[in-house]
Amino acid sequence: MKVAKVEQFYPAQRTRLVKITTDNGIVGWGESTLEGKARSGMAAVQEIADYLIGKDPLRIEHHWQHVYRSAFFRGGAILMSALSGVDQALWDIAGKHFNVPVYQLMGGATRDRIRVYAHWGIGDLSDEGLAKSRTRLDALVKKGGYKAFKAGPAGKWRAQEPPSRIDQFVKAAFLMREWVGPDVEIAFDFHAKMTPGLAIEICNEIKGMRPMFVEEPVPQENAEAMKQVSDHVTFPIATGERLLTRWEFRPLFEIGAVSLIQPDVSHAGGISETKRIANMAEPYYVHIMPHCAIGPVAFASCMQVDASVPNFLIQEQADACLGEGMLEQPWVVKDGHIDLPKRPGLGFEINERAAQKMLNVYPEELGGEHFHENDGSVADW
Ligand SMILES: [Mg+2]
Repeated sequence: MKVAKVEQFYPAQRTRLVKITTDNGIVGWGESTLEGKARSGMAAVQEIADYLIGKDPLRIEHHWQHVYRSAFFRGGAILMSALSGVDQALWDIAGKHFNVPVYQLMGGATRDRIRVYAHWGIGDLSDEGLAKSRTRLDALVKKGGYKAFKAGPAGKWRAQEPPSRIDQFVKAAFLMREWVGPDVEIAFDFHAKMTPGLAIEICNEIKGMRPMFVEEPVPQENAEAMKQVSDHVTFPIATGERLLTRWEFRPLFEIGAVSLIQPDVSHAGGISETKRIANMAEPYYVHIMPHCAIGPVAFASCMQVDASVPNFLIQEQADACLGEGMLEQPWVVKDGHIDLPKRPGLGFEINERAAQKMLNVYPEELGGEHFHENDGSVADW
């Protein structure tokens, strides 16, 4: 079996797909979305495609090593997201070739269903804002029985904010706890927009409502700053959606910077590397909660890793992850869980017409130039 064709599609914002077809007609799908970098990401996939044509698609590890190491310059978000999408598509082909779900090729399932959390929160405390939050919460509970949610302190945060700004977020956090009760988990994503000092202050203010975790309290590049926050906070701190490969996760483990990690299966190096990162985390008693805020192919890839490692805690699930309109059978959330995928490969049947669209617009997908502070300086999204 040889790789015959590598195609790419851009059916929706924050969704770039890789389709690999073999000479005996097996088709594998992967997701190489790198938010905000559509054109460079797709160019990187094309360069990998030039190498892959004519090769044996089942030599997944060998191809991973080749793409990662052979160009001398390694890593980076563009190359790693491209490699991630290709890696997922190769695993999809392998699963279909052997007629088993991908997790069967990685040691078999370690669980029967995948626990997920949805995006929900209270951001706006006005009557209208509260009514909107209530409606979404009720709909999510009714539709999927979710038992865990994540929200952010939305908008721009400077290095220091006045008490009223902090109080508003704290009030919303306690109100969320009041609404959902003690049996439901609530987490917060600080989107790496705070200093260690401000993050610690806010974490201490919200600790009484018992958050599940706070994610990216500070930017991701500095493991010591992350540890500084962890050392001053009583509940788990999480990070990792913007870290790539085992080598970038290594310092977190070695200094004990966080309790939870969130590798992104479309950025960190695909199914192969996300599983290796999870295995690497295990002796540090660190659990994984794979990041997924893009499309359903990436989400399906996450679930294959979630199914195969013991130290999985919960899976992030943005609305688009379920694949409405993109998958023939969108993923179904019941009682806050998704049943283990049983179909071969990544476990879905894609709607070819929906998946093979090509947008020809390239809007900002996260943040962007409009996201500046009121003094004109750059703010974090
Ligand atoms: Mg995040």
